[in-house]
Amino acid sequence: MATLNKVEQAKASFCGLDLAPRLGELSAAGWESLDEATLTIHLKWLGIFFRPVTPGRFMLRLRLPNGVLNADQLDVLAEAIDRCGSHGSADITTRQNIQLRGLLLEDMPPLMAALERVGLTSRQSGHDNPRNVTGNPLAGIDPEEFIDTRPLVDRIQAAVLGPEGPRNLPRKFNVAVGGAPDSFLLHNDLAFLPAFNDGTLGFTVMVGGFFSAQRNELAIPLGLWLPADQLPAFTLAVLRHYERQGDRSNRNKTRLMYLIDAVGLDTYRAEVVESYGAVAGAAAALALVPHDGTHLVCRAPRDICGVHAQKQPGLHWVGLHVPMGRLHADSMTDLARLARTYGSGGLRLSESQNALIADVPSDRLEALLAEPLLRHFRVDPGPLAAEAVSCTGNRYCSFALIPTKSTAQAVVEELERRLEVPHGVRTHWTGCPNACGQPYMGAIGLMGAKARKDGAMVEAVKVFLGGSMAADPRLAELHDKGIPLSELPEALEQILVERFGARPRALPA
Ligand code: SF4
Repeated sequence: MATLNKVEQAKASFCGLDLAPRLGELSAAGWESLDEATLTIHLKWLGIFFRPVTPGRFMLRLRLPNGVLNADQLDVLAEAIDRCGSHGSADITTRQNIQLRGLLLEDMPPLMAALERVGLTSRQSGHDNPRNVTGNPLAGIDPEEFIDTRPLVDRIQAAVLGPEGPRNLPRKFNVAVGGAPDSFLLHNDLAFLPAFNDGTLGFTVMVGGFFSAQRNELAIPLGLWLPADQLPAFTLAVLRHYERQGDRSNRNKTRLMYLIDAVGLDTYRAEVVESYGAVAGAAAALALVPHDGTHLVCRAPRDICGVHAQKQPGLHWVGLHVPMGRLHADSMTDLARLARTYGSGGLRLSESQNALIADVPSDRLEALLAEPLLRHFRVDPGPLAAEAVSCTGNRYCSFALIPTKSTAQAVVEELERRLEVPHGVRTHWTGCPNACGQPYMGAIGLMGAKARKDGAMVEAVKVFLGGSMAADPRLAELHDKGIPLSELPEALEQILVERFGARPRALPA
């Protein structure tokens, strides 16, 4: 048997979920009294992250299945970070999720209780766990959708967090469900894409997508199709197989694709079918049908910003651009108020770190669009801002080589001032090779780095070009391995002019 790495040894000796009933006692004792494994590993099973950059100020990552939340839930989150004063903020993540920053350990027990009261949880949202399950951000209101992903995603989450769910995966695991022609999901370990089999709409299974510092892959067809009602049990079967068979010796070679490589796709498929039989019964396993992986996803994700007609006559979603996904208590409270006042109270988050207010009647649109918050969270962001995605950066993350969000914000604003860009250009900014900002998915990807300038090492970025989430998806490739931040606006200006048809704006006389 392979030697367990250090993290695996800590996980084998204790499951972080068992900290839940002891959270009050731990917080009363103070975070400084906690051992390293509790602080940096086990607490993440409850969604609680120790942050070395802000010792004593913790992050809490929630689970928001399909990116759906409501105004009452958002109010609870806003109150939690409001109590943190200038330390408090929140980020919309690239998994349609929210993470809260600046919390004290003693804030956690009452916050967990408050979350439960409004139907939220932070359970198993970090470290080696099945992460927030994503879906079509427009599910249920989308005139273009094939299927509403919300109930499917909810049922997958219930199965994954239930008593049969995994407690000790070898690595994190991303699951997503597509419901529309623009549901690009090949960056997930397990993605269900809408597909027909013999005239019946169900899902074809894609496996093995992930980004990391070592390797980047798009998911590949597993060669199976299944009906919608089988998604939760099938997800459970895949996770249980991965929990049993995934490598636990080298954390750099542990994501699902490495397991598929090790055993071969045909063997992996056969083992998953067997695992499914054990979860759902042999008869249910017959629901799995061989499939060539052809699916209905055929174009890049829509920009959700702006006013759009829902499938429900007379109702609209209003998509708001949240600069770099960063939220503060007052803007969250205001967002909740707008959702309640002008819509049904429903909100959605997108993987491009933006938010939308759902169910706004035609006669309420004008008043909503006149609200002061919409001067900051615009419905008509520029072609670069609309889908600029950024990871946390060095304000909160000790791995970051650059201040990602503030750099992205400043550079995007400067480029939009200088250039007329004829169409949206997706930029993905990430602070280090861990690639949380998904740089390989951007038409332009930017990764924090160091470069030499005038004899000194300075903050810089690697630039990647050519990522596409359209019909023929591909990962961006390295274009330049070190542009100093001070030279970045000029370098990107040149790229946008030469490759994306941008034109310099006429300067005022
Ligand atoms: Fe931190 Fe690097 Fe991830 Fe950004 S990509 S959040 S810097 S680990």
